[in-house]
Amino acid sequence: MKTEDNNEYLESQVEQVAELIVNARRVVVFTGAGISTESGIPDFRSPGGIWERFDPEEFTYQQFLSNPESRKKHWRLLGSGRLHGGAEPNPAHYAIAELEKLGKLDCVITQNVDNLHQRAGVPENKVFELHGNMQWTVCLGCGRRYPFADVSDRVAGGEQEPACEVCRGMLKPDVVMFGEQLPERVFREASRHSRQCDLFLVIGSSLVVTPAAYMPVYAVDAGAGLVIINLSETPMDRQAAVLIRAKAGEAMSRIARGVSKRINGE
Ligand code: NAD
Repeated sequence: MKTEDNNEYLESQVEQVAELIVNARRVVVFTGAGISTESGIPDFRSPGGIWERFDPEEFTYQQFLSNPESRKKHWRLLGSGRLHGGAEPNPAHYAIAELEKLGKLDCVITQNVDNLHQRAGVPENKVFELHGNMQWTVCLGCGRRYPFADVSDRVAGGEQEPACEVCRGMLKPDVVMFGEQLPERVFREASRHSRQCDLFLVIGSSLVVTPAAYMPVYAVDAGAGLVIINLSETPMDRQAAVLIRAKAGEAMSRIARGVSKRINGE
């Protein structure tokens, strides 16, 4: 297809999604690592993604608990700030916050741990973080939480395995590692919102990481319409009412503009 045709096709898809959002009563947005690649945070599976540089087998919860060498590696990788350091929200995050201001967002369910939805302006109580948040670390002994930045400074200062300042228990980034259970309340609430919505938007997720990837299944099974904005294939592409193969930033800004025009007439 020529570029103009591509652009025209994207425009018609954007208009369809804007129309679906305006007509929906409850819109749930589900995001994965792909929404944050335009903020400079690599995803897991794209070329150049995290799994091309690190071995997933070494980064499991079980390894973290049982193997001091693995813990040191975790802290070297995470504490270096190489994953999220200095990242800012991008136009896709701001477009979702705009939907919220327009009264068209029930909630965001995210697999991301980068805090960028909140920083773009989505209220905390509307963001369900299935995999935790890198802003915090937690003591596995007494449950005390410490800001990640403080612990990361300690790692940079030479502490290889930072411990709780009070009980000397093991500190762990407050994110869900492979092989670790999802936070129960968040998972329950996210599942409920998914089942109760009438429009479910997937943005930047390969939809292969379970149980997070059950959310769109719950939504579609309960009768919601599905929109997918993702650069590569997902197992649910055929169930989507609209499937957009474009960058999340561009697609979402255009969609938010389309919704605003319909609601405010601008
Ligand atoms: P994934 O890496 O499996 O898939 C990301 C998807 O996004 C891919 O299909 C890719 O084609 C698509 N994509 C990449 N850039 C895009 C863009 N600009 N616009 C549209 N689509 C784009 O990610 P996942 O499904 O979220 O699962 C991986 C797991 O890794 C998650 O559990 C998540 O917790 C974690 N993770 C989080 C972050 C973060 O917090 N930013 C970063 C990496 C991984």
